[in-house]
Amino acid sequence: MSDWQCGNCGMEIPAVEQSCPKCDTARFSENRRQTLVADIAHDGQTLADAEHMLDKLLRQAALENYGRIRLITGRGLIHREVDRWLDAALWQDRISDYRAEDHNPGAILISMKP
Ligand SMILES: [Zn+2]
Repeated sequence: MSDWQCGNCGMEIPAVEQSCPKCDTARFSENRRQTLVADIAHDGQTLADAEHMLDKLLRQAALENYGRIRLITGRGLIHREVDRWLDAALWQDRISDYRAEDHNPGAILISMKP
């Protein structure tokens, strides 16, 4: 964990603090409007690697309060399996929705829980 900067007032804040002592803005609050982008397919990943990466991404996005994930899956085996993983994540209530990106079947947009 490293120190962070308040997205509202710019104050440098020690890693142990979860909100700004000056203006009370929560750490990661600015991430809600941001999209976490990750490629899980183009570095020689096996199916197991990709599934593990996705799990880590979902954890990170939830912890750091991201609004969305843009997941690059390519169009091969990983892309065909990812629906099953994301259906499981939906069922486990870890995400609120997902869909293929318009005009790009190799990318998926995941909406995180509010
Ligand atoms: Zn602040």
